[in-house]
Amino acid sequence: MADPYSVDLLTEKVLAGSRGHIARAITLVESSRPDHRARARELMASLTPHTRDSIRVGVSGVPGAGKSTFIDALGVRLIEQGHRIAVVAVDPSSTKTGGSILGDRTRMAKLTSHEEAFVRPSPSGGELGGVARATRESMTVLEAAGFKTVLVETVGVGQSEVAVAGMVDTFLMLALSRSGDQLQGIKRGILEMVNVIAVNKADGDNEGAARVAARELSVAMKLISSEKDARRPPVIPCSAYTGMGLDEVWEAVMKHRAELQSEGDLLSRRAEQQVEWLWSMATNEVLSTLHNSESVQSKRAEIEAAIRSGEMSSLDAVDQVLDLWRGDLQ
Ligand code: GDP
Repeated sequence: MADPYSVDLLTEKVLAGSRGHIARAITLVESSRPDHRARARELMASLTPHTRDSIRVGVSGVPGAGKSTFIDALGVRLIEQGHRIAVVAVDPSSTKTGGSILGDRTRMAKLTSHEEAFVRPSPSGGELGGVARATRESMTVLEAAGFKTVLVETVGVGQSEVAVAGMVDTFLMLALSRSGDQLQGIKRGILEMVNVIAVNKADGDNEGAARVAARELSVAMKLISSEKDARRPPVIPCSAYTGMGLDEVWEAVMKHRAELQSEGDLLSRRAEQQVEWLWSMATNEVLSTLHNSESVQSKRAEIEAAIRSGEMSSLDAVDQVLDLWRGDLQ
């Protein structure tokens, strides 16, 4: 039987848009088996030239902000305008909770049923570095397959935002109006990465509050934004339910993109992301050789016990661990 993971076959079929082969290529890039990794690297090299004209947008927000509903509604609108949509996610928490932000696929029911969309099935979880790598490589597969508008979903907590900001052109955050404390739950570090803010659920009884919240947040952004005026993130009220404001949110995403392009920053941003990616992957590799080192593991309990009992200082233990590790590398 022909090799189902042949790089030549996958390249040809992914470029032709075959859904079965796209799924297979994603399975390959999600695998951490060394032989799969080697093939995934080859596949990335052959697919990357086909990803240049893609649009990459991160969508963040606390659980319950409405990310799935928003992506479903926005995605369908974009398909009507001729886009082909990929949805991927970075959600390292899924290992802890056993669930995933994409676990309930029915939440993106409209989008999932479209030929012009590909919603990547829930990643199996794992540590952030591995999840981010798999997401990034899945994104490459999907872009090469012609799904040129990629929405990267992430939960609004912790380091996953940084990982997503490092792989998209525009970073969009969904906020909610909570009277009096619009900045609640939005960490300053996240605001600094954000390019567009949408205040979701501006419908029904909540519409007025959402509009007020958007205005207040807009003023707050003036105070904390380090970006020059033109780049200050616009704050737009919207409703994933009624569709109100969704076009304006997308216009703001496109405006941010046009600004990057006109200043030649889009390609340099992507190039810079590649450089950062190199170091993030190299660091992960080093960490995994350390954690998987047999010599280190065989002495681990002993060294930890010596530290706990006060026989050895942590500093001395560091030297010992690194010596054991280096011994394994030779
Ligand atoms: P996620 O956790 O950020 O993906 O949020 P979901 O998309 O699952 O939405 C969380 C809850 O908010 C669900 O009950 C949605 O039906 C609801 N929701 C999402 N968008 C809107 C909206 O625009 N208006 C209203 N009123 N509810 C919404």
